Amino acid sequence: MYNKLVDNWDQLLEDLKYEYDITEISFKTWIKPLKVLSVSDDTVTLVFDNEIKNNAGINSDNSMAISYVNKKYYTFIKTFIDEFLNKELDLKIVSKNNIDSDPFSDTNTVLPDGKDMELKSRIEKSNLSDKFTFESFVVGANNNIAQSASLAVAESLGTYNPLFIYGGVGLGKTHLLQSIGIFVLENNPDAKVLYTSSEPFTNEVIDIIRRNKQEDFISFRKKYRTVDLLLIDDIQFLAGKDRTQEEIFNIINELYMNQKQIVITSDKKPKDIDGIMERLINRFEQGLTVDIQNPDYETRMAILQEKVKNEKKINPKLQIDKEVLDYIANNFSSNVRELDGAFTRVTSYSKITRSPITLDFTIDTLSELVSPGYKKKITPNDIIDIVADHFQIKKTDICSERKNKAYSFPRQICMYLCREYTDENLITIAKALNKANHATVSYGYEVIAKKIKEDPEVKNVIDILNKKIDPN
Ligand code: ADP
Ligand code: MG
Repeated sequence: MYNKLVDNWDQLLEDLKYEYDITEISFKTWIKPLKVLSVSDDTVTLVFDNEIKNNAGINSDNSMAISYVNKKYYTFIKTFIDEFLNKELDLKIVSKNNIDSDPFSDTNTVLPDGKDMELKSRIEKSNLSDKFTFESFVVGANNNIAQSASLAVAESLGTYNPLFIYGGVGLGKTHLLQSIGIFVLENNPDAKVLYTSSEPFTNEVIDIIRRNKQEDFISFRKKYRTVDLLLIDDIQFLAGKDRTQEEIFNIINELYMNQKQIVITSDKKPKDIDGIMERLINRFEQGLTVDIQNPDYETRMAILQEKVKNEKKINPKLQIDKEVLDYIANNFSSNVRELDGAFTRVTSYSKITRSPITLDFTIDTLSELVSPGYKKKITPNDIIDIVADHFQIKKTDICSERKNKAYSFPRQICMYLCREYTDENLITIAKALNKANHATVSYGYEVIAKKIKEDPEVKNVIDILNKKIDPN
Protein backbone atom coordinates (compact mmCIF):
# COMPACT_ATOMS: atom_id res chain seq x y z
CA MET A 1 0.00 0.00 0.00
CA TYR A 2 2.90 2.32 0.75
CA ASN A 3 4.22 2.17 -2.80
CA LYS A 4 0.82 2.56 -4.31
CA LEU A 5 0.18 5.64 -2.23
CA VAL A 6 3.61 7.19 -2.81
CA ASP A 7 3.54 6.56 -6.56
CA ASN A 8 0.21 8.26 -6.92
CA TRP A 9 0.65 10.85 -4.20
CA ASP A 10 1.16 13.97 -6.30
CA GLN A 11 -1.78 13.14 -8.50
CA LEU A 12 -3.93 12.36 -5.49
CA LEU A 13 -3.19 15.74 -4.00
CA GLU A 14 -3.95 17.45 -7.29
CA ASP A 15 -7.29 15.65 -7.40
CA LEU A 16 -8.01 16.66 -3.85
CA LYS A 17 -7.27 20.25 -4.73
CA TYR A 18 -9.63 20.08 -7.67
CA GLU A 19 -12.37 18.23 -5.82
CA TYR A 20 -12.50 20.63 -2.91
CA ASP A 21 -11.74 23.71 -4.94
CA ILE A 22 -8.68 24.62 -2.87
CA THR A 23 -6.90 27.80 -3.94
CA GLU A 24 -3.35 27.59 -5.28
CA ILE A 25 -1.86 29.40 -2.32
CA SER A 26 -3.75 27.32 0.26
CA PHE A 27 -2.71 24.20 -1.58
CA LYS A 28 0.90 25.28 -1.61
CA THR A 29 0.87 26.21 2.07
CA TRP A 30 -1.06 23.35 3.62
CA ILE A 31 -1.41 20.39 1.28
CA LYS A 32 1.65 20.27 -0.94
CA PRO A 33 4.05 20.02 2.03
CA LEU A 34 2.40 16.74 3.06
CA LYS A 35 4.42 13.64 2.12
CA VAL A 36 3.78 10.01 2.86
CA LEU A 37 6.01 8.83 5.66
CA SER A 38 4.63 5.37 6.28
CA VAL A 39 1.64 3.12 5.81
CA SER A 40 0.94 0.34 8.24
CA ASP A 41 -2.02 -2.01 8.48
CA ASP A 42 -4.14 0.53 10.25
CA THR A 43 -2.42 3.90 9.95
CA VAL A 44 -1.19 6.28 7.29
CA THR A 45 1.36 8.74 8.59
CA LEU A 46 2.03 11.92 6.67
CA VAL A 47 4.79 14.35 7.40
CA PHE A 48 4.36 18.07 7.04
CA ASP A 49 7.53 19.46 5.50
CA ASN A 50 7.51 22.97 4.10
CA GLU A 51 11.29 22.88 3.68
CA ILE A 52 11.75 26.13 5.50
CA LYS A 53 14.91 26.09 7.55
CA ASN A 54 16.23 28.71 9.90
CA ASN A 55 19.82 29.98 10.04
CA ALA A 56 20.94 26.92 11.95
CA GLY A 57 19.54 24.68 9.23
CA ILE A 58 16.77 23.46 11.51
CA ASN A 59 13.30 23.13 10.08
CA SER A 60 11.08 25.91 11.38
CA ASP A 61 8.33 25.16 13.84
CA ASN A 62 5.34 23.78 11.98
CA SER A 63 3.12 23.01 14.92
CA MET A 64 0.66 25.78 14.18
CA ALA A 65 0.41 24.74 10.52
CA ILE A 66 -0.10 21.09 11.47
CA SER A 67 -2.79 21.89 13.96
CA TYR A 68 -4.52 24.01 11.33
CA VAL A 69 -4.24 21.33 8.63
CA ASN A 70 -5.71 18.86 11.11
CA LYS A 71 -8.60 21.16 11.84
CA LYS A 72 -9.40 22.25 8.34
CA TYR A 73 -8.27 19.53 5.93
CA TYR A 74 -8.06 16.34 7.96
CA THR A 75 -11.40 14.94 6.88
CA PHE A 76 -10.84 15.79 3.21
CA ILE A 77 -7.44 14.11 3.17
CA LYS A 78 -8.56 11.08 5.10
CA THR A 79 -11.59 10.54 2.89
CA PHE A 80 -9.43 10.77 -0.19
CA ILE A 81 -6.83 8.31 1.05
CA ASP A 82 -9.45 5.85 2.30
CA GLU A 83 -11.23 5.95 -1.02
CA PHE A 84 -8.03 5.57 -2.96
CA LEU A 85 -6.78 2.60 -0.92
CA ASN A 86 -10.27 1.30 -0.51
CA LYS A 87 -9.73 0.82 3.18
CA GLU A 88 -10.54 2.73 6.35
CA LEU A 89 -7.27 3.80 7.96
CA ASP A 90 -6.22 6.12 10.72
CA LEU A 91 -4.50 9.25 9.56
CA LYS A 92 -1.67 10.96 11.40
CA ILE A 93 0.13 14.13 10.41
CA VAL A 94 3.50 14.70 12.02
CA SER A 95 6.14 17.39 11.88
CA LYS A 96 9.38 17.12 9.92
CA ASN A 97 11.22 18.10 13.10
CA ASN A 98 10.24 14.81 14.70
CA ILE A 99 11.77 12.61 12.06
CA ASP A 100 14.99 12.31 10.17
CA SER A 101 14.38 11.88 6.51
CA ASP A 102 15.45 13.58 3.31
CA PRO A 103 13.76 16.70 2.09
CA PHE A 104 11.29 16.37 -0.74
CA SER A 105 10.76 18.67 -3.65
CA ASP A 106 8.58 21.75 -3.84
CA THR A 107 6.56 23.49 -6.55
CA ASN A 108 6.16 26.93 -8.02
CA THR A 109 3.36 29.32 -7.33
CA VAL A 110 0.94 30.06 -10.10
CA LEU A 111 -0.19 33.64 -10.18
CA PRO A 112 -3.89 34.18 -10.50
CA ASP A 113 -5.33 35.59 -13.71
CA GLY A 114 -6.43 39.19 -14.12
CA LYS A 115 -9.06 40.32 -11.65
CA ASP A 116 -12.50 41.18 -12.88
CA MET A 117 -13.94 44.65 -12.55
CA GLU A 118 -16.27 43.86 -9.73
CA LEU A 119 -13.48 42.46 -7.62
CA LYS A 120 -11.36 45.48 -8.47
CA SER A 121 -14.00 47.83 -7.20
CA ARG A 122 -14.49 45.80 -4.01
CA ILE A 123 -10.73 45.92 -3.45
CA GLU A 124 -10.77 49.69 -3.83
CA LYS A 125 -13.76 50.12 -1.56
CA SER A 126 -11.98 48.09 1.08
CA ASN A 127 -8.97 50.47 0.87
CA LEU A 128 -6.76 47.63 -0.36
CA SER A 129 -4.24 47.33 -3.14
CA ASP A 130 -3.95 44.14 -5.18
CA LYS A 131 -0.21 44.68 -5.31
CA PHE A 132 -0.01 42.84 -2.00
CA THR A 133 -1.03 39.21 -2.23
CA PHE A 134 -0.01 35.94 -0.64
CA GLU A 135 1.28 34.89 -4.04
CA SER A 136 3.83 37.68 -4.13
CA PHE A 137 4.91 37.17 -0.52
CA VAL A 138 8.11 35.17 -0.23
CA VAL A 139 8.00 32.80 2.72
CA GLY A 140 11.11 32.19 4.79
CA ALA A 141 12.10 31.14 8.28
CA ASN A 142 11.67 34.74 9.46
CA ASN A 143 8.02 35.06 8.50
CA ASN A 144 6.50 31.63 7.88
CA ILE A 145 4.54 31.51 11.11
CA ALA A 146 3.08 34.96 10.47
CA GLN A 147 2.32 33.95 6.88
CA SER A 148 0.57 30.71 7.78
CA ALA A 149 -1.40 32.33 10.60
CA SER A 150 -2.48 35.03 8.15
CA LEU A 151 -3.50 32.52 5.52
CA ALA A 152 -5.37 30.42 8.09
CA VAL A 153 -7.33 33.49 9.11
CA ALA A 154 -8.00 34.46 5.50
CA GLU A 155 -9.31 30.98 4.71
CA SER A 156 -11.40 30.63 7.83
CA LEU A 157 -12.27 33.96 9.41
CA GLY A 158 -12.24 33.71 13.18
CA THR A 159 -9.54 31.02 13.41
CA TYR A 160 -7.40 33.30 15.56
CA ASN A 161 -9.16 36.39 16.76
CA PRO A 162 -7.71 38.93 16.87
CA LEU A 163 -4.59 38.07 14.93
CA PHE A 164 -1.78 40.40 15.96
CA ILE A 165 1.26 40.67 13.68
CA TYR A 166 4.30 42.59 14.83
CA GLY A 167 7.77 43.30 13.51
CA GLY A 168 10.19 46.06 12.50
CA VAL A 169 9.85 48.52 9.67
CA GLY A 170 9.74 47.20 6.11
CA LEU A 171 9.46 43.53 7.01
CA GLY A 172 6.14 42.78 5.32
CA LYS A 173 3.42 43.49 7.89
CA THR A 174 1.34 45.65 5.59
CA HIS A 175 1.92 43.17 2.79
CA LEU A 176 0.52 40.29 4.85
CA LEU A 177 -2.34 42.34 6.24
CA GLN A 178 -3.41 43.38 2.76
CA SER A 179 -2.99 39.84 1.45
CA ILE A 180 -5.53 38.64 3.99
CA GLY A 181 -8.01 41.22 2.75
CA ILE A 182 -7.45 40.42 -0.93
CA PHE A 183 -7.74 36.69 -0.33
CA VAL A 184 -11.05 37.10 1.52
CA LEU A 185 -12.48 39.35 -1.20
CA GLU A 186 -11.39 36.93 -3.90
CA ASN A 187 -12.89 33.91 -2.24
CA ASN A 188 -16.00 35.29 -0.53
CA PRO A 189 -18.12 37.36 -2.89
CA ASP A 190 -20.23 38.73 -0.03
CA ALA A 191 -17.57 39.48 2.53
CA LYS A 192 -17.19 43.03 3.75
CA VAL A 193 -13.58 43.93 4.35
CA LEU A 194 -12.10 47.18 5.55
CA TYR A 195 -8.45 48.17 5.77
CA THR A 196 -7.38 51.19 7.74
CA SER A 197 -4.29 52.41 9.48
CA SER A 198 -3.88 54.51 12.57
CA GLU A 199 -3.51 57.82 10.85
CA PRO A 200 -6.65 58.02 8.68
CA PHE A 201 -8.57 56.40 11.50
CA THR A 202 -7.42 59.02 14.01
CA ASN A 203 -8.23 61.79 11.57
CA GLU A 204 -11.70 60.39 11.08
CA VAL A 205 -12.26 60.40 14.83
CA ILE A 206 -10.93 63.95 15.15
CA ASP A 207 -13.15 65.10 12.32
CA ILE A 208 -16.27 63.53 13.76
CA ILE A 209 -15.65 65.03 17.17
CA ARG A 210 -15.14 68.42 15.58
CA ARG A 211 -18.33 68.26 13.56
CA ASN A 212 -20.21 66.83 16.54
CA LYS A 213 -23.23 65.60 14.62
CA GLN A 214 -25.17 62.59 15.76
CA GLU A 215 -25.59 61.19 12.24
CA ASP A 216 -21.85 61.32 11.64
CA PHE A 217 -21.20 59.27 14.76
CA ILE A 218 -23.80 56.77 13.66
CA SER A 219 -22.44 56.34 10.15
CA PHE A 220 -18.86 56.14 11.42
CA ARG A 221 -19.75 53.37 13.83
CA LYS A 222 -21.81 51.58 11.25
CA LYS A 223 -18.95 51.67 8.79
CA TYR A 224 -16.56 49.88 11.12
CA ARG A 225 -18.93 47.67 13.03
CA THR A 226 -20.65 45.96 10.13
CA VAL A 227 -17.63 44.40 8.49
CA ASP A 228 -16.64 40.74 8.43
CA LEU A 229 -12.96 41.53 8.50
CA LEU A 230 -11.29 44.63 9.90
CA LEU A 231 -7.60 45.18 9.16
CA ILE A 232 -5.86 47.80 11.27
CA ASP A 233 -2.30 48.69 10.31
CA ASP A 234 0.38 50.28 12.51
CA ILE A 235 -1.54 50.43 15.75
CA GLN A 236 1.60 51.78 17.50
CA PHE A 237 0.81 55.22 16.11
CA LEU A 238 -2.24 55.36 18.37
CA ALA A 239 0.02 55.72 21.41
CA GLY A 240 -1.24 58.52 23.61
CA LYS A 241 -4.37 59.11 21.52
CA ASP A 242 -6.91 58.07 24.13
CA ARG A 243 -10.10 59.09 22.39
CA THR A 244 -9.15 57.17 19.25
CA GLN A 245 -8.14 54.14 21.31
CA GLU A 246 -11.53 54.28 22.99
CA GLU A 247 -13.25 54.10 19.59
CA ILE A 248 -11.01 51.26 18.42
CA PHE A 249 -11.66 49.39 21.63
CA ASN A 250 -15.43 49.64 21.19
CA ILE A 251 -15.25 48.60 17.56
CA ILE A 252 -13.00 45.64 18.29
CA ASN A 253 -15.23 44.56 21.15
CA GLU A 254 -18.32 44.61 19.08
CA LEU A 255 -16.74 42.81 16.13
CA TYR A 256 -15.28 40.24 18.48
CA MET A 257 -18.66 39.58 20.14
CA ASN A 258 -20.17 39.09 16.70
CA GLN A 259 -17.36 36.72 15.77
CA LYS A 260 -16.01 39.00 13.10
CA GLN A 261 -12.33 38.83 12.33
CA ILE A 262 -9.86 41.52 13.37
CA VAL A 263 -6.21 41.65 12.31
CA ILE A 264 -3.81 44.20 13.71
CA THR A 265 -0.20 45.09 13.00
CA SER A 266 2.32 46.93 15.09
CA ASP A 267 6.06 47.44 15.33
CA LYS A 268 6.17 45.85 18.78
CA LYS A 269 4.34 43.14 20.67
CA PRO A 270 1.21 44.37 22.51
CA LYS A 271 2.81 44.57 25.94
CA ASP A 272 5.73 46.65 24.70
CA ILE A 273 3.79 49.44 23.02
CA ASP A 274 3.86 52.42 25.33
CA GLY A 275 0.81 54.64 25.66
CA ILE A 276 -1.82 52.05 24.71
CA MET A 277 -4.57 51.44 27.24
CA GLU A 278 -4.43 48.22 29.22
CA ARG A 279 -7.79 46.85 28.15
CA LEU A 280 -6.92 47.30 24.49
CA ILE A 281 -3.69 45.38 25.07
CA ASN A 282 -5.63 42.65 26.85
CA ARG A 283 -7.93 42.39 23.86
CA PHE A 284 -5.00 42.11 21.49
CA GLU A 285 -3.50 39.35 23.57
CA GLN A 286 -6.68 37.32 23.56
CA GLY A 287 -6.04 35.94 20.10
CA LEU A 288 -2.79 34.90 18.48
CA THR A 289 0.32 37.07 18.38
CA VAL A 290 2.91 36.32 15.70
CA ASP A 291 6.07 38.13 14.74
CA ILE A 292 8.13 38.77 11.63
CA GLN A 293 11.87 38.79 12.11
CA ASN A 294 14.57 40.21 9.87
CA PRO A 295 14.89 38.09 6.74
CA ASP A 296 17.74 35.60 6.78
CA TYR A 297 20.12 35.27 3.85
CA GLU A 298 18.08 32.56 2.09
CA THR A 299 14.91 34.61 2.30
CA ARG A 300 16.67 37.73 1.07
CA MET A 301 18.00 35.80 -1.93
CA ALA A 302 14.56 34.32 -2.58
CA ILE A 303 13.00 37.79 -2.50
CA LEU A 304 15.61 39.08 -4.95
CA GLN A 305 15.13 36.10 -7.25
CA GLU A 306 11.39 36.79 -7.23
CA LYS A 307 12.15 40.36 -8.24
CA VAL A 308 14.41 39.19 -11.05
CA LYS A 309 11.61 36.95 -12.27
CA ASN A 310 9.15 39.84 -12.28
CA GLU A 311 11.62 42.23 -13.88
CA LYS A 312 12.25 39.69 -16.63
CA LYS A 313 8.59 39.84 -17.58
CA ILE A 314 9.12 43.49 -18.52
CA ASN A 315 12.69 43.15 -19.70
CA PRO A 316 13.38 39.62 -20.97
CA LYS A 317 17.02 40.44 -21.75
CA LEU A 318 17.82 41.27 -18.14
CA GLN A 319 21.03 39.61 -16.98
CA ILE A 320 21.95 39.58 -13.31
CA ASP A 321 24.67 37.33 -11.95
CA LYS A 322 24.36 35.55 -8.67
CA GLU A 323 27.31 37.51 -7.28
CA VAL A 324 25.35 40.72 -7.79
CA LEU A 325 22.33 39.36 -5.93
CA ASP A 326 24.69 38.06 -3.30
CA TYR A 327 26.19 41.50 -2.83
CA ILE A 328 22.76 43.10 -2.45
CA ALA A 329 21.54 40.37 -0.08
CA ASN A 330 24.64 40.74 2.08
CA ASN A 331 24.45 44.50 2.34
CA PHE A 332 20.73 45.01 2.92
CA SER A 333 19.90 42.55 5.60
CA SER A 334 17.55 44.20 8.02
CA ASN A 335 14.67 45.49 5.96
CA VAL A 336 12.86 44.13 2.91
CA ARG A 337 11.86 47.59 1.75
CA GLU A 338 15.52 48.63 1.58
CA LEU A 339 16.43 45.36 -0.10
CA ASP A 340 13.74 46.02 -2.72
CA GLY A 341 14.91 49.60 -3.05
CA ALA A 342 18.53 48.59 -3.63
CA PHE A 343 17.52 46.12 -6.33
CA THR A 344 15.30 48.65 -8.07
CA ARG A 345 18.03 51.26 -7.92
CA VAL A 346 20.47 48.92 -9.64
CA THR A 347 18.07 47.88 -12.40
CA SER A 348 16.86 51.39 -13.11
CA TYR A 349 20.34 52.94 -13.11
CA SER A 350 21.41 50.24 -15.50
CA LYS A 351 18.52 51.14 -17.80
CA ILE A 352 19.19 54.87 -17.65
CA THR A 353 22.93 54.56 -18.19
CA ARG A 354 22.63 51.54 -20.51
CA SER A 355 25.26 49.74 -18.47
CA PRO A 356 25.35 45.99 -17.91
CA ILE A 357 24.74 44.97 -14.30
CA THR A 358 28.19 43.86 -13.25
CA LEU A 359 29.36 43.56 -9.67
CA ASP A 360 31.43 46.75 -10.03
CA PHE A 361 28.47 48.63 -11.40
CA THR A 362 26.34 47.41 -8.48
CA ILE A 363 28.91 48.36 -5.85
CA ASP A 364 29.23 51.77 -7.43
CA THR A 365 25.48 52.34 -7.71
CA LEU A 366 24.82 51.35 -4.13
CA SER A 367 27.90 52.91 -2.55
CA GLU A 368 26.03 55.81 -1.06
CA LEU A 369 23.60 53.45 0.65
CA VAL A 370 26.13 50.90 1.79
CA SER A 371 28.84 53.20 3.09
CA PRO A 372 29.24 53.33 6.85
CA GLY A 373 27.41 56.11 8.60
CA TYR A 374 24.65 56.09 6.03
CA LYS A 375 21.26 57.03 7.49
CA LYS A 376 22.77 58.28 10.73
CA LYS A 377 22.36 61.77 9.38
CA ILE A 378 18.93 62.48 7.93
CA THR A 379 19.02 64.25 4.59
CA PRO A 380 16.29 66.23 2.79
CA ASN A 381 16.17 63.34 0.34
CA ASP A 382 15.35 60.85 3.13
CA ILE A 383 12.54 63.11 4.26
CA ILE A 384 11.14 63.46 0.76
CA ASP A 385 11.24 59.65 0.46
CA ILE A 386 9.36 59.13 3.71
CA VAL A 387 6.76 61.81 2.94
CA ALA A 388 6.18 60.52 -0.60
CA ASP A 389 5.78 57.00 0.74
CA HIS A 390 3.45 58.20 3.48
CA PHE A 391 1.13 60.06 1.11
CA GLN A 392 1.49 57.42 -1.59
CA ILE A 393 2.62 59.95 -4.19
CA LYS A 394 5.70 60.13 -6.37
CA LYS A 395 8.83 61.98 -5.31
CA THR A 396 8.78 63.75 -8.64
CA ASP A 397 5.35 65.18 -7.82
CA ILE A 398 6.61 66.55 -4.53
CA CYS A 399 9.52 68.16 -6.33
CA SER A 400 7.36 69.60 -9.10
CA GLU A 401 5.51 72.87 -9.68
CA ARG A 402 2.11 71.21 -9.39
CA LYS A 403 -0.21 73.35 -7.26
CA ASN A 404 -2.80 70.68 -6.52
CA LYS A 405 -3.29 70.31 -2.73
CA ALA A 406 -2.51 66.61 -2.97
CA TYR A 407 1.07 67.67 -3.79
CA SER A 408 1.45 71.12 -2.26
CA PHE A 409 0.55 69.96 1.25
CA PRO A 410 3.10 67.08 1.32
CA ARG A 411 5.63 69.48 -0.24
CA GLN A 412 5.16 72.00 2.57
CA ILE A 413 5.39 69.19 5.07
CA CYS A 414 8.76 68.28 3.56
CA MET A 415 9.87 71.89 3.98
CA TYR A 416 8.83 71.82 7.61
CA LEU A 417 10.46 68.48 8.39
CA CYS A 418 13.67 69.33 6.54
CA ARG A 419 14.07 72.39 8.73
CA GLU A 420 13.28 70.40 11.86
CA TYR A 421 15.47 67.40 11.16
CA THR A 422 18.39 68.48 9.02
CA ASP A 423 21.10 71.07 9.46
CA GLU A 424 20.80 72.12 5.83
CA ASN A 425 20.20 75.76 5.03
CA LEU A 426 17.16 77.06 3.16
CA ILE A 427 18.97 77.14 -0.15
CA THR A 428 19.95 73.47 0.01
CA ILE A 429 16.45 72.45 1.09
CA ALA A 430 14.95 74.50 -1.75
CA LYS A 431 17.30 72.77 -4.18
CA ALA A 432 16.35 69.31 -2.93
CA LEU A 433 12.71 70.20 -3.55
CA ASN A 434 13.50 71.71 -6.92
CA LYS A 435 12.50 75.21 -5.85
CA ALA A 436 14.32 78.23 -7.27
CA ASN A 437 13.41 80.52 -4.41
CA HIS A 438 14.38 79.61 -0.87
CA ALA A 439 11.76 81.97 0.57
CA THR A 440 9.21 79.36 -0.53
CA VAL A 441 10.75 77.00 2.00
CA SER A 442 10.47 79.36 4.93
CA TYR A 443 6.92 80.20 3.89
CA GLY A 444 6.04 76.50 3.72
CA TYR A 445 7.61 75.97 7.11
CA GLU A 446 5.52 78.73 8.68
CA VAL A 447 2.30 77.45 7.11
CA ILE A 448 2.77 73.99 8.59
CA ALA A 449 4.02 75.26 11.97
CA LYS A 450 0.82 77.31 12.25
CA LYS A 451 -1.43 74.47 11.14
CA ILE A 452 0.10 72.12 13.70
CA LYS A 453 -1.13 74.45 16.41
CA GLU A 454 -4.56 74.94 14.93
CA ASP A 455 -5.49 71.73 13.20
CA PRO A 456 -5.33 68.42 15.11
CA GLU A 457 -5.35 66.46 11.83
CA VAL A 458 -2.17 68.16 10.68
CA LYS A 459 -0.63 67.62 14.10
CA ASN A 460 -1.54 63.95 13.80
CA VAL A 461 0.17 63.68 10.40
CA ILE A 462 3.31 65.33 11.77
CA ASP A 463 3.30 63.11 14.88
CA ILE A 464 3.23 60.05 12.68
CA LEU A 465 5.87 61.33 10.29
CA ASN A 466 8.10 62.17 13.26
CA LYS A 467 7.87 58.56 14.34
CA LYS A 468 8.54 57.32 10.83
CA ILE A 469 11.65 59.48 10.54
CA ASP A 470 12.91 58.66 14.00
CA PRO A 471 11.21 55.50 15.35
CA ASN A 472 13.03 55.70 18.66
P1 ADP B 1 5.97 46.87 6.91
O1 ADP B 1 4.49 47.11 6.81
O2 ADP B 1 6.31 45.75 7.84
O3 ADP B 1 6.74 48.11 7.24
P2 ADP B 1 5.72 46.28 4.11
O4 ADP B 1 4.67 45.25 4.17
O5 ADP B 1 5.30 47.64 3.65
O6 ADP B 1 6.49 46.40 5.51
O7 ADP B 1 6.92 45.74 3.20
C1 ADP B 1 7.89 46.59 2.61
C2 ADP B 1 8.14 46.17 1.17
O8 ADP B 1 8.79 44.93 1.16
C3 ADP B 1 6.86 45.99 0.39
O9 ADP B 1 7.06 46.42 -0.93
C4 ADP B 1 6.61 44.50 0.42
O10 ADP B 1 5.90 44.05 -0.70
C5 ADP B 1 8.02 43.96 0.45
N1 ADP B 1 8.11 42.69 1.20
C6 ADP B 1 8.25 42.54 2.53
N2 ADP B 1 8.32 41.24 2.88
C7 ADP B 1 8.22 40.55 1.73
C8 ADP B 1 8.24 39.16 1.40
N3 ADP B 1 8.38 38.22 2.34
N4 ADP B 1 8.13 38.82 0.10
C9 ADP B 1 8.01 39.76 -0.85
N5 ADP B 1 7.99 41.07 -0.63
C10 ADP B 1 8.10 41.48 0.64
MG1 MG C 1 3.41 48.85 7.07
